[in-house]
Amino acid sequence: TNHLRHVESLTTLPSGAGKIFPLNAVILGEALASEEDDLIFSNKDFSNQAHVSSPQKYLEMYKRSIVDPAGFWSDIASQFYWKQRWDEHCVYSENLDVRNGDIKIQWFKGGVTNICYNALDMNIQAGLGDKTAFFWEGNDLGKGATLTFNQLLSKVCQFTLFAHAQLANYLKDIGVKKGDAVIIYLPMLMELPIAMLACARIGAVHSVVFAGFSSESLSQRIVDCKPKAVITCNAVRRGSKVLNLKDIVDSALVESTNNGVSIDVCLTYENQSAMTRETTKWQIDRDVWWQDIVSKYPTTCEVEWVDAEDPLFLLYTSGSTGKPKGVLHTTGGYMIYTATTFKYAFDYKPSDIYWCTADCGWITGHSYVTYGPLLNGSTVVLFEGAPNYPDSGRCWDIVDKYKVTLFYTAPTLFVNRYSRKSLRVLGSVGEPINPSAWRWFYNVVGDSRCPISDTWWQTETGGFMITPLPGAWPQKPGSATFPFFGVLPIIVDEKGNEIEGECSGYLCIKNSWPGAFRTLYGDHERYETTYFKPFPGYYFSGDGCSRDKDGYHWLTGRVDDVINVSGHRIGTAEVESALVSHPQCAEAAVVGVEHEVKGQGIYAFVTLVGGVHYSEELRKSLILSVRKQIGAFAAPDRIHWAPGLPKTRSGKIMRRILRKIASGQLNELGDTSTLAEPSVVDQLIALRDT
Ligand code: ATP
Ligand code: MG
Repeated sequence: TNHLRHVESLTTLPSGAGKIFPLNAVILGEALASEEDDLIFSNKDFSNQAHVSSPQKYLEMYKRSIVDPAGFWSDIASQFYWKQRWDEHCVYSENLDVRNGDIKIQWFKGGVTNICYNALDMNIQAGLGDKTAFFWEGNDLGKGATLTFNQLLSKVCQFTLFAHAQLANYLKDIGVKKGDAVIIYLPMLMELPIAMLACARIGAVHSVVFAGFSSESLSQRIVDCKPKAVITCNAVRRGSKVLNLKDIVDSALVESTNNGVSIDVCLTYENQSAMTRETTKWQIDRDVWWQDIVSKYPTTCEVEWVDAEDPLFLLYTSGSTGKPKGVLHTTGGYMIYTATTFKYAFDYKPSDIYWCTADCGWITGHSYVTYGPLLNGSTVVLFEGAPNYPDSGRCWDIVDKYKVTLFYTAPTLFVNRYSRKSLRVLGSVGEPINPSAWRWFYNVVGDSRCPISDTWWQTETGGFMITPLPGAWPQKPGSATFPFFGVLPIIVDEKGNEIEGECSGYLCIKNSWPGAFRTLYGDHERYETTYFKPFPGYYFSGDGCSRDKDGYHWLTGRVDDVINVSGHRIGTAEVESALVSHPQCAEAAVVGVEHEVKGQGIYAFVTLVGGVHYSEELRKSLILSVRKQIGAFAAPDRIHWAPGLPKTRSGKIMRRILRKIASGQLNELGDTSTLAEPSVVDQLIALRDT
């Protein structure tokens, strides 16, 4: 009973803070409530060496982070370099309640620091100068390069000076300075993180635009943030194709000039493996070759010290829904949060080799390719190419070649084969991972030995919010498990009332955390309306979530993806999981369509396992599988066989497009420029009536 009381005290928070989830069963080592065979217990050896080795340890730390956020985060922040320490009396201040005035979040106010200095100079001072910071793997086999922390710092410094001196030259006194925006439209060359770090070093605000976006999308972003310069390269090889990026930038710049925003400098990296400068279109008074200028500058450069709340970057959300929003992150809190989440969610150790397949054009590439890992002094693999080029074994070739230990990817990019002996922790992001994909990732990719960090978070949150800490507790396939330190997730019903225990509803966050975004650029009102007005008092994530008996969290997809069939609210993720559990179904994407009788009907796109042919019989057995697992009310009205699904290159299924195809609005597909395989859309349309 003593033991029980101890558990009680760990799981109950002081009044006002609400209850944490019931982790009791886990702590007591009892079987968890859900189906026994669904549980995968982390192996003991892993737990023994993990940063957080048990549920008790987690709860102690978690409890402190909630009861005393100021103390918890100050202790961590103290391990970083601050030119001037923050105001001790006010480590953070927050108002998340629209009824109490403007939404405002601040962390470490008064502190003065620089994230580039912490990521590079501080690690070099700690003796990591000769450690590899980046292994760069090119698109084509056999192409690669390496930078140590020392070399990376030199490159960043040269580029930093370029930004100062060169622009001051060309533009007289308008040079890029603290607070100015710079757009970076580059593929995964090392110059991409170099440019980001250089902006951070001088306090300029980078806005990376994924180099797969169309010229319209790019110019929309240019017009929104009015950058001092655009950084790009002439072309890039992706798989067997060559993409002429400079042409896209040129037309984006024409378009933005027409909309009143003209750009004076377009710095262009000559990417010789894709295109030479002779064939690159050029505008003499605006365009500058990176190679002609940057390497002439000295390799050391002073840091511009910035306030903790000075903006670090602006990133437009991926746009799987509606008009892109310029998510703004500031310096101090983001730095502490990405470094800490990286360390714990991947159980990072100095000997690890880390590879995240995300492009720096997405938030994952900001927080977990660039800042989080480098702040920890980690060696990072950067990959320029496509995961299936020259064949689908490429990912595992890279894992084996660099002896990758921490591998972080999107669940939709999972592929098979190769030894992968080096792997230690697997990470997944971007979409709910369905239990059968989870099992496959765990059993096949990780040889049943590597914990999986199914990380739930968003562009807006800056870093992980709900995620396993490898080794700390048993995992359930498909569950993102428990909140990270300092995060109080709650589930609310339609009226905004917090619901406890086993429940399902809208996922909100009750408090601020250091990595939270501070506003939408130039539109604080939209920030409040989108995220804080739906459920006053809370940050609303836009995602649905359920919590099981053991307190585990299960993301059910975006709330707009919930389908209302005759009054039953059905999460698309649930139906998809049921379909994918069918042995012949490889992948599924479910959307709602208008239905005369039911209000909404369920329309399911399915891809099949290699070699399987679609047939009437198979259609019936797929539907049966949903009926059995969820119930007759969730049975799809229509199964649409899909040779492939439209995905962004970050691995997200574009349900927006599928919804249009399902409802026959074929002229309103919207921007399809970030699709990895645009031809998939035509195939789907052709198969609509079969
Ligand atoms: P937009 O907001 O422009 O439509 P987006 O939401 O796809 O784009 P991101 O911020 O990159 O852009 O993605 C965050 C979303 O991805 C989450 O809100 C959630 O729906 C989904 N997601 C991310 N990680 C997970 C995860 N581990 N499990 C389930 N869903 C996830
Ligand atoms: Mg979103």
